[in-house]
Amino acid sequence: MISVKLRDWYQKNKRDLPWRKTDDPYIIWISEIMLQQTRVAQGYDYFLRFTERFPDVRSLAEAPEDEVMKHWEGLGYYSRARNLHVTAKRIVEEFGGIFPSDYETVLSLKGIGEYTAAAIVSISWNKPYAVVDGNVYRVLSRLFGVETPIDTGKGKKEFAELAAHIMDVKHAGEHNQALMEFGALYCIPRNPDCESCIFADRCLAYAKGNVSQLPVKQGKTKVRHRYFYYFHILSGRDTFLNRRGKGDIWEGLYEFPLIETDRKMDFVEIEQTAAFRQLFSGSLHLEINSTLTDVKHVLSHQILHAVFFQIRLDCIGEGMEDYLRIPSGNLDDYAFPRLLHIYLEKIKGNLAK
Ligand code: SF4
Repeated sequence: MISVKLRDWYQKNKRDLPWRKTDDPYIIWISEIMLQQTRVAQGYDYFLRFTERFPDVRSLAEAPEDEVMKHWEGLGYYSRARNLHVTAKRIVEEFGGIFPSDYETVLSLKGIGEYTAAAIVSISWNKPYAVVDGNVYRVLSRLFGVETPIDTGKGKKEFAELAAHIMDVKHAGEHNQALMEFGALYCIPRNPDCESCIFADRCLAYAKGNVSQLPVKQGKTKVRHRYFYYFHILSGRDTFLNRRGKGDIWEGLYEFPLIETDRKMDFVEIEQTAAFRQLFSGSLHLEINSTLTDVKHVLSHQILHAVFFQIRLDCIGEGMEDYLRIPSGNLDDYAFPRLLHIYLEKIKGNLAK
């Protein structure tokens, strides 16, 4: 039976990770959200810092949003951190701080989709909900030779049914973790060691020799190119920040005043834009200190091309009124997206002078 073999493999090979040693739904939830799209090696320290500062739902609910974002800073996918915060508040307000155990209720929480809901209720309460993540798609498509594209409605349905079918409902939580771990550690995307695999005698992809072609994906999502021109403005010992709003990447994070264009421009062209005139209206004695060009930052479905201008201004005009004015030495108190950190790392040491 597949599940028995898997769980046996899991017991011998599972990684020693803090969220594998608990059935606390709060911890499972944080780890699942934090580790989506993030390698365990990268997410591990974040997880420890986050759960040390916010050890339970109540401490997360009561924290200021800026502090939650600061603990997420650098991980990307910032809407996840905001959703964690919103959901923690809801759990406190609506459920008295007790994490709900019913699948449908868990699924109704902001930021929790079918995958995470299944992971939480199966791992915490052993409820028979099968998880299907990228690792599970890979293992199942290969083991059963399924060539239906995983990014189609038909594929999603087929894989969900298959995942439910092979689950041993008496060991739902362990089975789910075993399947995910097997995909993460053994049935890896490139060159898995099929010869020594516990499923070598029954894996259809191995038998057919098409392991590397599975799972199948149908379409490639179009990538959008964006051009960001940042102005790190220094006036005396102060600098200026903007807190990003709703409806775009990095909601709630901070950045320098930004002009975005849909094509590459040089400084002379940018100076002629309405956005530039607006930003520096009323300001005097603009002097460019330094420039960092061609900083490329890849997000899912977007490529950002950034240029940073460090500018000294003697006299600040009304164009800067909407920005937050802070001492340059306090930049560390704010949560920035990784793109800004690339720049800040480069100029480190010059800021507090
Ligand atoms: S035989 Fe290879 S492809 Fe099949 S399950 Fe094992 S590692 Fe994956």
